[in-house]
Amino acid sequence: MKTWAYIDHFQGEPVPASWEALGVAKTFGEVTAVILGAGLDALAQIALEYGADSVLVADDPALADYRAEAFAATLTALITDSAPQAIFLPTTTRTREVAAMSAFDLASGVLVDVTALEAQDETILATRPVYEGKLFEKVTCSARPQFITLRARAFPKPARQAGRSGAITKAAAQAESKTSVEGFTPAETNVNLADAGVVVSGGRGVANDPAKGFGLIGDLAKTIGGAVGASRAAVDANYIPYAHQVGQTGKVVSPDLYVAVGISGAVQHLVGMRSSKVVVAVNKDAEAPIFTQARYGVVADLFTFLPILNAAFKKKLGK
Ligand SMILES: Cc1cc2nc3c(=O)[nH]c(=O)nc-3n(C[C@H](O)[C@H](O)[C@H](O)COP(=O)(O)OP(=O)(O)OC[C@H]3O[C@@H](n4cnc5c(N)ncnc54)[C@H](O)[C@@H]3O)c2cc1C
Repeated sequence: MKTWAYIDHFQGEPVPASWEALGVAKTFGEVTAVILGAGLDALAQIALEYGADSVLVADDPALADYRAEAFAATLTALITDSAPQAIFLPTTTRTREVAAMSAFDLASGVLVDVTALEAQDETILATRPVYEGKLFEKVTCSARPQFITLRARAFPKPARQAGRSGAITKAAAQAESKTSVEGFTPAETNVNLADAGVVVSGGRGVANDPAKGFGLIGDLAKTIGGAVGASRAAVDANYIPYAHQVGQTGKVVSPDLYVAVGISGAVQHLVGMRSSKVVVAVNKDAEAPIFTQARYGVVADLFTFLPILNAAFKKKLGK
């Protein structure tokens, strides 16, 4: 099967899940990495090192800033020229737009936020969570190409092989767009939860002393190399900014380890972390629903238990 992997990036900085998409595409056949933007030489080389058989770049100063119309029009033109059967993208805000617009141009469809895949001849059977993660739906796309966006960390990242070479082909951009980017303002907090391998999240359980509670959660996250997440109750109470929120109206995370501290386990929270590989819950209420999701549960007061856990990790990790 002729497959493409779309490498999503912000000004040349790749979204890590792009390499997961590349690894997946390679399991279905020869893979071309497709990159749109400006100044892409370094990124094209990295795509080869992550296993792309070839790279197709639309490298044009007019594509320096992401704009949905220009990127989708360019992708549509490239697909029309080469006719791949499937294109795999990491699921990001940008790729949701680009895939949808390009699929519309080509009278095809998009399978979004996919967590598992299998081949049925030339058609791909994709699994994705629906109804807040309570059910897994199996879906296919009958038109071509099949656009498939993959949930971050649901698939393995291929090993990088330094110096690996391959053909890099340049293609023209379709840069016309009614929108233009006037500038960027850095967010107050820069949290990358979606790509985190470890997430330590806090909830309303810290209410007795939120600053101390999230201080302890931050310390533990730092010791074990994790990002800090939160429940909506903690965000609504202004214990921590919204960028940290996990759940239905926050971020969806799939870390190897998710530590839920003082979080009850409401369904709207679970939908954001249900695909974590190992869940540890710390809660003083032995009946808290979060324990039904947890491989390891600790019934304890977080203010007493977290310093002990952190000290034990530090000792074990020699920190
Ligand atoms: C439309 C909609 C969207 C929503 N989206 C989200 C979302 O994206 N994310 C989200 O998280 N929620 C979301 N919610 C809210 C959700 O329903 C819950 O209200 C919320 O998740 C509860 O947060 P919590 O677990 O921190 O608080 P609580 O439910 O109040 O739980 C606090 C827990 O802390 C424990 N605890 C208390 N003190 C301690 C202590 N000292 N040590 C240890 N444990 C302690 C308690 O036993 C309790 O289990 C949404 C709700 C709606 C209606």
